[in-house]
Amino acid sequence: MHDGVIAWLRAAADRVHAEAASLTALDQAIGDGDHGINLDRGFAAIVAMLDERPAPEDGTADATATADLLRQAGKTLISKVGGASGPLYGTAFLRGAGAIGAATDPSAGAAFVAALEAAAGGISALGKSAEGEKTMLDALFPAARAARAALDGGGDLATVTAAARDAATAGAAATIPMLATKGRASYLGERSVGHQDPGATSSALLLAVLAETAAAGTSDAAAATA
Ligand code: ADP
Ligand code: MG
Repeated sequence: MHDGVIAWLRAAADRVHAEAASLTALDQAIGDGDHGINLDRGFAAIVAMLDERPAPEDGTADATATADLLRQAGKTLISKVGGASGPLYGTAFLRGAGAIGAATDPSAGAAFVAALEAAAGGISALGKSAEGEKTMLDALFPAARAARAALDGGGDLATVTAAARDAATAGAAATIPMLATKGRASYLGERSVGHQDPGATSSALLLAVLAETAAAGTSDAAAATA
């Protein structure tokens, strides 16, 4: 799980960098045009943190080490990202870290679902926001529900993360007709309608990268045992 989380964070940084202009364009329509820049800065700082971080001594890092890594990533986002999304995503990582550290079911799929539920709940608590307000929560809560359903259906990490990605992608698209009632976009009132929320879009992107990372990890494992 530990190596998978590192692979996800590094791949996410690459994808955020590649998509920074389009995320920023979404934020130009209904915000202040900095969402891609904000996340790119934050994930570049996470990569710098990973580069400096010593490898776990025994090479088989446990849930505690993974939680610690996510906690550091969250603190990095909070300290390096201006704008609402830094504290919101940072808190999501801190809450996710807490869930993984406390996970009683050691399967990676179960730990991920618990982390995603905690992350969405943490954003909601900090942002005083709920689904239907045209924010990142419109991607993350549906993703958490779909992931939970896939897990309950016996899905492994690849299946569960793919369900989260699909629901987050649909949830992000579903923000287009919504009226924003939280964050900067809410200042626009009716003019926020007709645009996809930047934060919901970046949440879907982060979960898409996670699903790709999990699928690659599964095929690596299959190749190793073939
Ligand atoms: P800022 O709005 O400060 O410029 P960003 O542009 O980086 O910050 O992030 C904007 C995104 O943050 C929005 O698209 C929305 O998804 C999310 N957001 C803003 N406020 C809230 C909130 N109260 N709850 C949840 N998400 C929010
Ligand atoms: Mg902005």
